[in-house]
Amino acid sequence: RAKADGRGTYRFFETGMDARAQARRLLEMDLRAAVQRDEFEAYYQPIRDVASGRVVAFEALLRWNHPQRGLIAPIDFIPLAEETGLIVQLGEFVLRSACIDAATWPDDVDLAVNLSPVQFKNPNLIASVIAALAASGLDARRLELEITESVLLQNSEATLTTLHELRAMGVRISLDDFGTGYSSLSYLRSFPFDKIKIDRSFVSELATREDSMAIIRAVTSLGRSLGIVTTAEGVENDAQLELLRREGCTQAQGYLFSKPRPASDVAVMLNRPRLLASA
Ligand code: C2E
Ligand code: MG
Ligand code: MG
Ligand code: MG
Repeated sequence: RAKADGRGTYRFFETGMDARAQARRLLEMDLRAAVQRDEFEAYYQPIRDVASGRVVAFEALLRWNHPQRGLIAPIDFIPLAEETGLIVQLGEFVLRSACIDAATWPDDVDLAVNLSPVQFKNPNLIASVIAALAASGLDARRLELEITESVLLQNSEATLTTLHELRAMGVRISLDDFGTGYSSLSYLRSFPFDKIKIDRSFVSELATREDSMAIIRAVTSLGRSLGIVTTAEGVENDAQLELLRREGCTQAQGYLFSKPRPASDVAVMLNRPRLLASA
């Protein structure tokens, strides 16, 4: 059994400590060192207006350039970063570097940044958003923050206050992964979201499942009635894009246009309608 020592850390390789716990502990140490060593990088994926085809925004997606393991995707480190609280530092890093990058893009191209529920428990969230905007000179109206309904699940007054404060600064708030949680519709009433991002799982089955089609239709129509932009995630082919266009979905994002790529590729992604290969 792992036991805490006097400094609140854990001893290694203690008898009986299972392999999973050990791997986790190693990953945690690695993660902490990586923050110091500057191994994190924001990648960017374009979001296009469905009607005009124009790139209207890029979503920043965090990557870990591990010296031995290569490029690591968020699924393999964000959960642990959340458990250990390191996500606060990582989140500040993404916000800061993405705002600096976005300030160099054309003025009509926005920046979307994901926020973890854990960041909402940190009293410095607003201050770090203000600092990132100030340091980069990025107009607050070009920044969208993506949250999942689990943020609202915490259902605290403090969370809603924070969201309203961000909104008052001109920052827009998107509801990410819509449709994957529990009582999604009630969240639309608890806060006036600017955008709903329809989860990839519905888009991927668009052409083959009637019910996915019906759900997309309902959400885009709901968005229209509420005056909320709808963005389809995970658009991979023309058939999906065509169905989304027909349903009046506002924006689309997915491998059809481009995978997430480094900041240096933004100019290329802006100028070419499609970038299927690499990254
Ligand atoms: P998300 O915010 O829903 O981001 C969309 C994810 O879908 C990204 O995965 C993106 O690469 C992937 N994706 C986009 N288009 C397609 C497609 O056409 N097909 C397929 N199969 N996938 C597509 P990624 O980059 O691995 O990120 C996964 C999740 O990790 C994100 O989901 C987000 O929840 C979280 N994440 C990423 N970066 C950050 C960050 O900076 N902070 C926080 N708190 N979370 C982040
Ligand atoms: Mg997102
Ligand atoms: Mg999403
Ligand atoms: Mg998603």
